Amino acid sequence: MTLKLIFIVAFLLVTAIRLTLQCIHYASAKNKIPDNVADVYDEETYLKWQKYHGEKNRLYMISTAVTSAVLLVFLCFDVHAAVANLFGFGFFAKVMAILMFHTLVSFIISVPFQFIDTMRIEEKYGFNRTTFKTFVRDLFIELAMSFVLEFLLILAIYLTHNALGDNMVYVLAGVMCAFTLLMNYLFPLLNRLQNKFTPLPEGSLRDKLTALLTSHGYTVKEIEVMDASRRTSKSNAYFSGLGKQKKIVLYDTLLEQMDEDEICAVFAHELGHGLHHDILKLLLLNFGSMIMIAVLAWLGVRYEEICEAFGFKFGMVNYGFVYLMLGSAVLPLVQQIYGILTNYISRKAEYRADAQAVTEGYGDALISGLKKLSRENFDHLSPSDIVVLLEYSHPTLSQRIDAIEG
Ligand SMILES: [Zn+2]
Repeated sequence: MTLKLIFIVAFLLVTAIRLTLQCIHYASAKNKIPDNVADVYDEETYLKWQKYHGEKNRLYMISTAVTSAVLLVFLCFDVHAAVANLFGFGFFAKVMAILMFHTLVSFIISVPFQFIDTMRIEEKYGFNRTTFKTFVRDLFIELAMSFVLEFLLILAIYLTHNALGDNMVYVLAGVMCAFTLLMNYLFPLLNRLQNKFTPLPEGSLRDKLTALLTSHGYTVKEIEVMDASRRTSKSNAYFSGLGKQKKIVLYDTLLEQMDEDEICAVFAHELGHGLHHDILKLLLLNFGSMIMIAVLAWLGVRYEEICEAFGFKFGMVNYGFVYLMLGSAVLPLVQQIYGILTNYISRKAEYRADAQAVTEGYGDALISGLKKLSRENFDHLSPSDIVVLLEYSHPTLSQRIDAIEG
């Protein structure tokens, strides 16, 4: 009973932290806008933004509260054990039963929220370009992918524990890091299932970008344009892949919205990330979180008492349940804390990448480009410090402009 209580308290703590941060974020719409970004929105747009921010954040809060309440009921009343016991035939059936039950329940709960978010709120404010058909297709691709990933992870926990006992923690950590590395290569391929990529056409823009790259002796496999406009009007640019497979991807929306110098500035920022090996650093930080998951998984399967505390039979470890417990109660707490470090490092990397654009002579273009991006992405201009500190991977626009202007 004590063990169960500790887990439930941890889970409540995570939920309370998340809801509190969401409340602070919700209320921060009324914060004063810093002077250097006062021209991003006109008065009418700013009022529209406040309404948009309010609607989005109310939805997040309701979604967090509903999802957590359902899980809390499951944990309090040993629902997972009951589901496993319904499938009395064999160990694997019990594990699969829990995984399928959990995946389906989370899917069913999340669909209405995702629908309201994409097809109602984003639609209402003119961001959504997803058709209902694409929306449904994306949902099912996501469902299938999350099911496969979770299944593989549980299988890895089971296999390593059975073969290696306590030594599983090293092998599991190794396997998960290798998998993360693999995903870095696979992600661009998976992304290709959902979007079309075309090489950036010949012309003065491509020449300028290539000149920027060669001036640093830097090569990428391709500069590509992604048809992001099929789904959203929001814009972005990013590096994908490692080593020789590295590509720079520009959203087609970016090309529509910015002039040539601004695109070069955004590009020089991405180049800055490349020159400072930020993708690699991010990957190493991800390894850190994989190692933590491996340690938690090891603790979860080592102490059978944890499963017993939630109604499982004496001496039985249900790997699916261990995984879910970690994923819902312990891991978010650990990740919240680890996130402070990774977000800090990521914000530093953003400043450095901005400085690269300044070095290339695109400081002013970067400022006007970032302002356009913020306007198009309907960004929050005055988030609360505590939320930036804990959850922002990028500095705020105002902080970035301060740094660019030196
Ligand atoms: Zn960046």
